[in-house]
Amino acid sequence: MKKTANILVTGGAGFIGSHTVVLLIEQGFNPVIVDDFRNSEKRVLKGIEEITGQIPVVHEVDVVDKEAMHAIFQQYNFEGVIHFAAYKAVGESVQKPLMYYRNNLVSLMNCIELCEEFEVKNFVFSSSCTVYGEPDDILVNENTPIKPANSPYGQTKQVSEQILKDAIDSKNGLRVLCLRYFNPIGAHESSAIGELPIGVPNNLVPYVTQTAIGKLEQLTVFGDDYQTPDGSCIRDYIHVMDLAEAHIHGMKWLSRQKDDTYEILNAGTGVGVSVLEIIHTFEKVTGTALNWKIGPRREGDVSQIYADPKRAFDLLGWKTKRSIEESLKDAWNWEQKLANEK
Ligand code: UDP
Repeated sequence: MKKTANILVTGGAGFIGSHTVVLLIEQGFNPVIVDDFRNSEKRVLKGIEEITGQIPVVHEVDVVDKEAMHAIFQQYNFEGVIHFAAYKAVGESVQKPLMYYRNNLVSLMNCIELCEEFEVKNFVFSSSCTVYGEPDDILVNENTPIKPANSPYGQTKQVSEQILKDAIDSKNGLRVLCLRYFNPIGAHESSAIGELPIGVPNNLVPYVTQTAIGKLEQLTVFGDDYQTPDGSCIRDYIHVMDLAEAHIHGMKWLSRQKDDTYEILNAGTGVGVSVLEIIHTFEKVTGTALNWKIGPRREGDVSQIYADPKRAFDLLGWKTKRSIEESLKDAWNWEQKLANEK
């Protein structure tokens, strides 16, 4: 793949997308962002510019709009696509399943069909460890059986992987890598970009930082009676910049593969961390006391899951570098930066 290749990044103004765009620019690629900003903010573009010194190329387009996407594919000679754009809130997907199916599946099918038409080969897809459901083994590798999805959101990720697999099986000439993200957290070390949750966050770490800064009153730990060492749930929290690096490694790796390659890789650290450990580590590294209490379990939570990251390392030579301490510190610096701007 040429160093200066044009890479389409759908959802490139989002949390993981924006951090990946920064790395693409730093490595000499030309990322082309397609994002209609329904779940992101334009300020992200300023942040990307602040870090890289380059104004990112953006098209304010809905990926579901095939005609508009066609025009973008016509304008650029893409060498790869990183498809982030999707809805991702589990609870909302239960309320609005059709909105989730239409958005997440039609956007994916548009991208695949346009790649076929314009002979764009390399395709990285944002999948999620949610596809494992409540796994029998807590350390999951890519062969761990998929369990029935417990939300329409999870279902869209399972179906998306299947759509990609079927497309490859039909010998459409693409090369596909599905990255199954574990729990992305943190922010760019510069604090120029980070996570911008809409409304009250569902995810743990933004909830922690917003409580610590005083935006939210108190964090509730969803259950302390799980079969884990301290009773709280265990997850695999991955620094967003480590995750961004996985996409770059993945894109380069794909470009060296044969047509009709289909691969799935876990993107995690291999280390499980409990909710209580997150709280204690956050307090320790930031010197900030957190107001928290134990509450009831949240429906649909699996008790523990973390990635076996070996296959990603074997294939891509990629592994995470940043610690949980660093991740929480970066998340906190970002929250403080946001507070100072207000
Ligand atoms: N969690 C919590 N309080 C919160 C938000 C999350 O205790 O306010 C817990 C949740 O039960 C889970 C972990 O934090 O065990 C990670 O949840 P998150 O929603 O961030 O990610 P998930 O793993 O559910 O995708």
